[in-house]
Amino acid sequence: MQITFWGVRALVPSPGQETTVTGGNTLCLTVQGAGGEALAIDAGTGITPWGRSLLGGPFGKGQGELDLFITHPHYDHIQGFPFFVPAFIPGNTIRLYGSNYCKRTMEQVLESQMNPIFSPIQSLKNLNSNLLFPDAGPGGVVTVGALEVRLETLPHVTEQAMGVRVSEGNRVLVLAPDVNYPDGIAPPEAVALFRDADVLVHDVRSHRPGLERQHARETFDARDAVAAATAAGVKKLVLTHYHFDSTDAELDALREGLGHGHPFEIELAREGATLWI
Ligand SMILES: [Zn+2]
Repeated sequence: MQITFWGVRALVPSPGQETTVTGGNTLCLTVQGAGGEALAIDAGTGITPWGRSLLGGPFGKGQGELDLFITHPHYDHIQGFPFFVPAFIPGNTIRLYGSNYCKRTMEQVLESQMNPIFSPIQSLKNLNSNLLFPDAGPGGVVTVGALEVRLETLPHVTEQAMGVRVSEGNRVLVLAPDVNYPDGIAPPEAVALFRDADVLVHDVRSHRPGLERQHARETFDARDAVAAATAAGVKKLVLTHYHFDSTDAELDALREGLGHGHPFEIELAREGATLWI
C-alpha cells in the first residue's frame, strides 16, 4: 500500500517561505494498492495538484474511476474539489462517500459549495464527469479492488467527522484528520478504529503559542494523539492537519517535544511525501 500526502494543513492554505518543508495545501491523501487501485481521502486544496498529475493517464481520456472519501465537509476538506480537473472530463466516474452533515447529504453539501455566490462552477451539474454518491457512511465498509475501507464516526468540534481505516491484507492505514477528544482521551470507538494500524495518520492542529484564545476550538494537544496511538498499539504515528499558523520550525519543535522513547515511530506528514506499508 502506497500513501501519498498532497495536503497537510487545517482550515486554510498556508503557502510561504515558512511552510516549504511541510507544505501549505489543505488536506488530501491518496492510497494506492498493490494492484494499482487508488482512492483519495478528503478534497482540500491538495487534491488539485493530484488531479493535474492524473491527466496523463485514464483520467485525461475520460476513462478514470475514483473513490473519494470526504471525512467531513469543512472547507479544508472540500475546497479543492471545484478545481479537481478530472471531475470536469466526461466519461470519468467519481464516487463520493461521506456522512450527512447538519442534516444535509454530501451531495447537497457539495451542491451548496458550487452556489454561484461562492463559485463560478454554479452547480455540480456543470461538472461533466459521472458523480455518484453511494449510500455508505460511518459504520460502513467499502471495497476498492483489494482495498477494504472501513468508515467510523469520530468526535469533532461541532458535528462529527469520519475516521477512515484502509486495509490491504494485513496492512492497515488509518486516517483520523479532525478529532476532539473529551478531556483529551480518545473514546473506545476511536481506539478500536486505530487498533494495531501500521500507520495512524492523526490530527495535530498545533498552533503558534499566544493564539490559544483566538483559535481555542481549532487547537489540539499532540500528546493526546500520542496517547491514542499508544492505547491502540499502532506501529507508526504520522501527524498531519497542521494549523495554518504553524511554521516548519515550530512543527519540528513540536515533534521533538514529543520525545523519542515511544514504542512506535512519530513523523510529521510532508506534502509530496510517500509512505509504503
Ligand atoms: Zn479540518
